[in-house]
Amino acid sequence: MGLLAEQRTSESLVAAARATVGLHRRPPTIVMESGSGAYLFDRAGNRYLDFFAGASVSSLGHGHSSLRAALHDQLDRLVHVGPIFTSGPEVLLLERLVSLSFADRVTFANSGSEANEAAIKLARRYQSRVRRESRRDTIVALGGSFHGRSLATLAASGRPAHCDGFEPLPAGFTQVPRDDLNALAETVDDRSCAVMIEPIQGESGVHPIMPELLAEARRLCDEHGIALIFDEVQCGVGRLGTLWAYESVGVVPDIATWSKGIGGGLVLGVMAASERFAQGFAPGSHGSTFAGNPLSCRAGLVVLDVLTTPGFLEQVRQSGERLRAGLDRLAERHPLIGPARGRGLMLGVPVVGRQAGRVVEAARQRGLLINSAGAETLRLLPPLIIGETEIDEALDRLNAAIESVE
Ligand code: PLP
Repeated sequence: MGLLAEQRTSESLVAAARATVGLHRRPPTIVMESGSGAYLFDRAGNRYLDFFAGASVSSLGHGHSSLRAALHDQLDRLVHVGPIFTSGPEVLLLERLVSLSFADRVTFANSGSEANEAAIKLARRYQSRVRRESRRDTIVALGGSFHGRSLATLAASGRPAHCDGFEPLPAGFTQVPRDDLNALAETVDDRSCAVMIEPIQGESGVHPIMPELLAEARRLCDEHGIALIFDEVQCGVGRLGTLWAYESVGVVPDIATWSKGIGGGLVLGVMAASERFAQGFAPGSHGSTFAGNPLSCRAGLVVLDVLTTPGFLEQVRQSGERLRAGLDRLAERHPLIGPARGRGLMLGVPVVGRQAGRVVEAARQRGLLINSAGAETLRLLPPLIIGETEIDEALDRLNAAIESVE
């Protein structure tokens, strides 16, 4: 048997794919082979316009020339040093993240879940070791959140379907309804150590959190001396048309997590904190063998270079407006869908009759990759480099997909 996928038949690859357990349901016969810009190509030669970007990850699209050149160069130099030593790309990325954001200190991770775990640990340890408030251990999160699939982040999200059968989950997490300011104010108390929020919820169906609730969360955290954590794993890193999601919503957190788009496809997570809360960790409080990997950090540097190129984020905002306007025109034409929610290039389209899955499948058959967040929302997360022609092409294909379902 060949080691390269190219040396194998499609049938044998599809058969081998059955060995996975418990992960997402995937279209069983599609094996992706290559990508270029906003397009993906499968083994059978089909071409797809990628409006999901591997769940908000491929921010620069596929095969971006600067990313490829930097990764080739880094491959020739150094791929791993482990947690005891640092490397040039890691140090440069630390410096860049601190200079570009509210953060004074950064810890790297290998995924969004892991970055959120670090945030939860930091918020707790700040209370127990710096303030000596050992009773303050509870994270207050919002209903509908998705913070990851590790046990603590499952407990933070509180989504019954994701927790099913994995009990007991770690204690010290509670959720309040997404838009209920009073419930938030009543719940944050002398047992709380943090309020944890996705500024725009992704998995729940692209729900922006009300500005009033974000402001109230900031006020409550200041009043109690606890951390406001923004999980920007999906909505951060340029996706909303600002570098960080907190810049779009006008509330600055104490701790933020970034992942997905920051590696442009490489495995990279970031937990960023203000100096005050960073005191919660001493050397050795936290660690991760692969975190800060030179290859991933090199990718992060390229992504930040591209995103901070003058005019790039303005272009993301304009692309977002074009896409939203087009989606809203579709909504006027098709009773199956409603007006888009979200911001920048993170848009959700409500679908009546729990038909989102059917539209996603019909779109895929027409060469457009989108995703459903639940049965009632289409989620569009194109690469940030998307152009006008591709947006118009996606809208045409989506229109045809919706017509086929109606
Ligand atoms: N937080 C948010 C907001 C997410 O959308 C996700 C993943 O979808 C995660 C955390 C978990 O990230 P990962 O799958 O990299 O662990």
